[in-house]
Amino acid sequence: MTKNQSNKEYLQLLIHSGVDFFTKNQPNDLFATIEKNNLTHKPQNNIILPEIKTINDLKTFVDSSLKCSLKKTANKTVIGDGNPNADLMIIGEAPGKDEDEKGLPFVGRAGQLLSKMLMAINLDRKNIYVTNAIPWRPPNNRTPTEKEILECLPFLQKIIEIIQPKIIFLLGATATKAILSTPLALSKLRGKWHQFKTINMEKNVDVLVSYHPAYLLRSPQYKKEAWIDLKKLQIKIKNENENENENEN
Ligand code: URA
Repeated sequence: MTKNQSNKEYLQLLIHSGVDFFTKNQPNDLFATIEKNNLTHKPQNNIILPEIKTINDLKTFVDSSLKCSLKKTANKTVIGDGNPNADLMIIGEAPGKDEDEKGLPFVGRAGQLLSKMLMAINLDRKNIYVTNAIPWRPPNNRTPTEKEILECLPFLQKIIEIIQPKIIFLLGATATKAILSTPLALSKLRGKWHQFKTINMEKNVDVLVSYHPAYLLRSPQYKKEAWIDLKKLQIKIKNENENENENEN
């Protein structure tokens, strides 16, 4: 395969995944009305992705419109759970067996560890929004491919645009790839603050990377580093709250 051919395939993948604004035959005109016929993700029930403003509408859209092979083998679509007005969003990889049965993220063993980790820094899951990079369980819990991550990215971005978190906590390599778009190893990225923004967002969101709780269950020797990351998250939240209080006074 020549270099050009592989570029072409990559561009086609981007177009197919809904990143319509990135590759078009004409220059972007962000003020132009979007033609429903030109959208990659075809509207059903007359909703189109750019018009979606709520998680419920997004779920309807993802259930009816998104074409991804993972959907065929999954029982339920898992969009997210928690407080839709949360300042903190947590993004994991994809639903596992328990999540696929219940339609909710992080309810199995990894989810229980996640709840404990959050409680250790005085955070209650009810005050956080929890979601995944992929809304469907991959067969046998295999790691999602880059193509699958890219196909689901417009929906993950939409969730972030709807929730408008101030801080995102990424758990593991799949969520990190989706949000930070880098092949760098998790060990190079974890414990550091990064930034994220979509074309529709006004402000950057602060992003912290850490290990996935399922990985910590398998490799408990990394819990020490995960604890350092959690403390960083706790300090950031405390500083954000103090800044907010100062601005209010
Ligand atoms: N692992 C994840 O990444 N997400 C879940 O929802 C459950 C397990």
